Amino acid sequence: MPPILSSIIRDKIDPIDGASDAQLSAIDGIAKEFDLTVEKLSEIIKHFCNEMDKGLSKNGMTVPMIPSFVTGIPTGNEVGTFLALDLGGTNLRICEISFEGKGAIKIKQQKHKVTENLKAGPSHQLFDFIADCVDKFLSEYTEFVTVQPGVHDRKLKLGFTFSFPVEQTAINKGTLIKWTKGFTCPDAENKDVVFMLQEAMKRKNVPVIVTALVNDTVGTLLSHSYKDPNTLIGIIYGTGTNGAYFEDIPKIKKINFSDDSQKKMIVNIEWGAFDSEKKVLPLTMFDNKLDRESNNPHYQIFEKMISGMYLGEITRNILLHLIDRMLLFDGYSSKDLNRHYSFETEYLSTIEADETQTLDDTKKILEELLNIPSTTLIDRQIVKRACQMVGLRAARLSSASLAAILIHCDKVECGSSVGIDGSLFEFYPHFSARIKKALQELFGANADKIKISLARDGSGVGAALAAMLAAQK
Ligand code: ADP
Ligand code: MG
Repeated sequence: MPPILSSIIRDKIDPIDGASDAQLSAIDGIAKEFDLTVEKLSEIIKHFCNEMDKGLSKNGMTVPMIPSFVTGIPTGNEVGTFLALDLGGTNLRICEISFEGKGAIKIKQQKHKVTENLKAGPSHQLFDFIADCVDKFLSEYTEFVTVQPGVHDRKLKLGFTFSFPVEQTAINKGTLIKWTKGFTCPDAENKDVVFMLQEAMKRKNVPVIVTALVNDTVGTLLSHSYKDPNTLIGIIYGTGTNGAYFEDIPKIKKINFSDDSQKKMIVNIEWGAFDSEKKVLPLTMFDNKLDRESNNPHYQIFEKMISGMYLGEITRNILLHLIDRMLLFDGYSSKDLNRHYSFETEYLSTIEADETQTLDDTKKILEELLNIPSTTLIDRQIVKRACQMVGLRAARLSSASLAAILIHCDKVECGSSVGIDGSLFEFYPHFSARIKKALQELFGANADKIKISLARDGSGVGAALAAMLAAQK
């Protein structure tokens, strides 16, 4: 076997000219911890495959493998207009989606930010807010809203994308298992999400009936299948991360599904929870600090190494570590940099994309947004290196879960399409290229048969498709 080069060396890394030996040795030490060799990736993949099997056979496993009860696969020929709601973690989106056949879709949408108060307050406040947003959307777009021909029920059908772990019992029923991504509304866990939403619609007199509940990964998978029937996997890299795929129903041993006419069901993996036991993931002290200080310690360990909510915070932990050793910013932090989650994941994107000779965009972020008194070019190069380590590791870990599903479904040889939604995937520089590179290291030429594409707004469109598939039954 050829020697395994470190993954950080394989990625394009700018030299840090003029750094001291102490700085270089500290950076190299951290880089080693963030490095993910193909051997380590293979070990993670093996464990991931085992965890998938466990989750399919029994309830309550670490990787829960949640049956979605979505069994239809869109043909692309479906037509009709439906509403969709997408509660992702950062934003609430309301869409009116018209399916026009042949894979064509028209969308109208409004977006609202979910405030920290709503994320932590009583759940009826959160759901009332959602109902108010739908009401506003309907009054501003009423002329576009049509009731399905031949359907006398005046209520509009709505698919709800709810991107938190839910124990689903039917296409329109599911109880929240546990909040993630910074949500904590104390009374919502163990309650039926559709019921809570429908009650809020009643309280606010909004003429909508919630006919389908889907996870955003399930939605993304459905919407991508509408355009590309060879789609096997739907993935989210946004505030959080997760994936869903088409599974053979007999392989979902933990359920008794009576409808013999159906062959496949979408399974929501909830992979953010993978390896919460910390058995194989290469956690650093920066990850452990983040986990300990989070509002869900010991949960969502995989997600905390990959997704948009956390990459900035891991980087901030590295920078503080270097500052405390007098190796960065001359030992000075700022009030802003000392604040939890002040180093946003968007900053990593800007810094990784900063190709100016003196790293001017990086300087702006550090000195103007985070109020570091002054930075040298060496400081800024070190910060860029820290961002590269965190971003590269996130992408390589992402390739591991994707690879595990392909192996589980025996699709490595023949290939598949993968639809991906979420701002991290859409905007983070090189994220997709780094995943592809890792897949090439793992699968060689077969990696070219894996078609990864952005499924923008997939989660919303998919909820409307699920509402449509449910209405057809
Ligand atoms: P949601 O998770 O609510 O569906 P998004 O898919 O938009 O929403 O993801 C939001 C997450 O994406 C946030 O955590 C944010 O930090 C991250 N994000 C947004 N813009 C960027 C960007 N330009 N680069 C990297 N991450 C980003
Ligand atoms: Mg989303």
